[in-house]
Amino acid sequence: MAKENNTIFGKILRGEIPSDKVWEDDYCIAFHDINAAAPTHILVIPRKYVPTLNDLEKDDKELIGHMVWVAAQIADQEGIADDGYRLVINCNDMGGQTVHHLHMHILGGRGLSWPPG
Ligand code: AMP
Repeated sequence: MAKENNTIFGKILRGEIPSDKVWEDDYCIAFHDINAAAPTHILVIPRKYVPTLNDLEKDDKELIGHMVWVAAQIADQEGIADDGYRLVINCNDMGGQTVHHLHMHILGGRGLSWPPG
């Protein structure tokens, strides 16, 4: 049986809590991060419940590739593509993951330092 998705992003996907959406298709949605860490901070999440990067299956390769493509479309849509931006997927505690539904951060609109803290 599929695991129940009790995460905040599961609730957003089911429409139980609101989000400021910028993209929706059959495979993923994207919305503004509620606690923006940059002038543009958007999250791309799959509709499929995948808790972490570690839970990706071989059949999910197309899904994750699609999410990267969607992120690039959104960067263009938001006007940050030419200046540059960063895609980040945090995994588990040491990676800084707080919501256990896979998500890709799109960060842009300011210069981003490297390496991350
Ligand atoms: P991470 O630390 O990689 O798991 O990122 C989780 C992100 O989700 C954080 O940047 C939070 O600010 C963001 N977040 C948490 N709750 C919401 C929400 N209800 N709507 C939008 N973003 C959220």
